[in-house]
Amino acid sequence: MQFRPKKSLGQNFLVDENILKKIVDIGDINKNDKILEIGPGTGNLTKYIINAKSKNITVVEKDIDLVKILKDRFKGKVKIINCDVLKLSENFYIDEFIVYGNLPYNISTQILAYWCLSKNIKFKKLILLFQKEVADRIIARVNTKNYSRITILANWKFHIKKILDLNPECFSPRPKIKSTLLEFTPKKNIIEINSPKNLENITKIFFNQRRKMVKKNFIKLFKNFDDVSKKIGIKLSDRPQNISVEKFLMIVKKLEDGLK
Ligand code: SAM
Repeated sequence: MQFRPKKSLGQNFLVDENILKKIVDIGDINKNDKILEIGPGTGNLTKYIINAKSKNITVVEKDIDLVKILKDRFKGKVKIINCDVLKLSENFYIDEFIVYGNLPYNISTQILAYWCLSKNIKFKKLILLFQKEVADRIIARVNTKNYSRITILANWKFHIKKILDLNPECFSPRPKIKSTLLEFTPKKNIIEINSPKNLENITKIFFNQRRKMVKKNFIKLFKNFDDVSKKIGIKLSDRPQNISVEKFLMIVKKLEDGLK
């Protein structure tokens, strides 16, 4: 079947066979592992996942034209779900999946944020390909310009390892930008907060004014803002990019304590 890639769905298919194999190997798949692939496209990565040991593979693809190609190509070897990954509820993630995804660039941050902020979703591992610029934000260090909301959400839940950068030539059609492969392993002991929604809101409030000193927001959030900032170890003249992941979680905990 002739297929024309759709820009609107971020369809840049990975075609470098060495890289495809390498990506699947990183998952170190065992026979009992449950695998989820987001956006399988024409199945280039799926083919290698099938060759690994797992017998339990689910793929989620939004484009019905690709779903037809996948059904034809893999004939019952994988469970194919035709839907928007952003519409899947927490109940879908009943298994601790190893997730693979050459994610559509326009929704990659949104889907990662959703996974980080969901209380009941657990993963064995995530192996995800991002636009390099987005990956740089995810793995950014505190006190750098790339340090962002997604850095905090992702590093709260996961140990994150950069595996490699990929040039546009690895894809067809070629994107204009480089991509980066990241591996996420869940942290065993995360800092617990009552509601991840609070972390979502707090990071939004601070990073909406990322160039401003945090003082203004501290005053809005806490009556005893001086005390709270001192206890956490934050200078009111700091900018959001100077506040570590742990300190953002302390801010949320202080707010939640105040709400009790
Ligand atoms: N995995 C394939 C590969 O590497 O060759 C394709 C990757 S391509 C960058 C992204 C894929 O995600 C496309 O197949 C696209 O149709 C699919 N997609 C885009 N938006 C989606 C969404 N919201 N939910 C599920 N799949 C989506």
